[in-house]
Amino acid sequence: MQASSKQAAQELLKFISRGPSPYHVVAECRSRLLQAGFQELKETEHWDIQPDRKYFVTRNLSTLIAFAVGGQYQPGNGFSLIGAHTDSPCLRVKRCSRRSQEGTVQVAVETYGGGIWSTWFDRDLSVAGRVIIKDLSTGRLEQQLVRVEQPILRIPHLAIHLQRSVNESFGPNTEQHLVPILATEVQQALEKKTSKTDTACTSSFQSRHSPALLALLCSQLKVEPEQVVEMELCLVDTQPPTLGGAFNEFIFSPRLDNLHSCYCALQALIESSEGPGALAQEPNVRLVALYDNEEVGSQSAQGAGSLLTELVLRRISASPQNLTAFEEAVPKSCMISADMAHAVHPNYPDKHDKNHRPEFHKGPTIKVNSNQRYASTAVTEALIREIASRVDVPLQEFMVRNDSPCGSTIGPILASRLGLRVLDMGSPQLAMHSIREMCCTSGVLQSITLFKAFFELFPMLDQGLLSN
Ligand code: ZN
Repeated sequence: MQASSKQAAQELLKFISRGPSPYHVVAECRSRLLQAGFQELKETEHWDIQPDRKYFVTRNLSTLIAFAVGGQYQPGNGFSLIGAHTDSPCLRVKRCSRRSQEGTVQVAVETYGGGIWSTWFDRDLSVAGRVIIKDLSTGRLEQQLVRVEQPILRIPHLAIHLQRSVNESFGPNTEQHLVPILATEVQQALEKKTSKTDTACTSSFQSRHSPALLALLCSQLKVEPEQVVEMELCLVDTQPPTLGGAFNEFIFSPRLDNLHSCYCALQALIESSEGPGALAQEPNVRLVALYDNEEVGSQSAQGAGSLLTELVLRRISASPQNLTAFEEAVPKSCMISADMAHAVHPNYPDKHDKNHRPEFHKGPTIKVNSNQRYASTAVTEALIREIASRVDVPLQEFMVRNDSPCGSTIGPILASRLGLRVLDMGSPQLAMHSIREMCCTSGVLQSITLFKAFFELFPMLDQGLLSN
């Protein structure tokens, strides 16, 4: 394996480790962008967008839009966009999570997105997310991120002796069987700070969650239990991502879908706009949008289905000299909707169409579906093929079998919402939506190289297509 390819893969592992929840993903992106000289904007403030400058804005702390304005940019010029999503299927702590059963202290959870829930059994789990904290003297509320590093939760399998058919079919009841164990009631009663649990759900925050869980969170946050007002917590596997396989050519990791694409898009934006003169000849705005809530359909205030993208693009385009700058910009723009693709599975070869079988190391995969589950068109495919050939990145194609269900992503949503040209593509992976997924190391550098080339070449290549 090339050293640069391995290095890129290892950097992705770091990024994923630091992103156990969408909030942590955005925080990690924010710190990387600040370090790379991007300026943070607030939605509530006036923006004074200048050519040859770099900016970013966040919404709900779980969606982020970053952009670099070309040195030659004028209102009405196009946007070169790459979109991805910050969320992954997971279990989330319920608003009244306090629960005890058969002498155990449990944490009630809700399923988020379409996870393969059987993979959450027998894993060493913890929690990460955001908490709303109250300053008791001023009454001021603020958000803080929280992450418990040690494995505090477990969803144990039922022994095979008690369910002989488990190897033929195992599908847990998501309400009954996915409730993790936090402690025993006996032990919790022995701990000084805690009291005996009951299952009643009242409005007081302290009564809605187990004292043991609150104690863990408060010690992380260095606040008193009375200060915690509300929280959104994701369950996470504590096992760190790693390289694997006999030749270290694989990545075994949680949340490859879609932190792989988030990382590659962000890295491409940072690298393609760093150093003096990097943006000097650029006529477009290079933009990366990382959305929350893709796994549940994108229909939220911070999702790809919201007005957020249009608002941001309008604000960047806004000019007193050109009142239709945004409307002129959209047809000159193009988005790569980056989301992971399904590699062909050696044990389930029949699941892929004979001619559309993405493999590891063979490049990012263009996703096509005439029924618009993916938004790629012949035009956007031709564009990316030209770009890929110029930087020697191999490409693959994926179309789902006619007799198979097809996933979807943010591509069609943004294409229809904005009337934007979109290409759906992503690096191939296996075990999508498992708690621990798998991909190849080479896909990381291939994606970064391709995305960088898209930013650098799209405005020039689009000239011919536009004048047709
Ligand atoms: Zn995805």
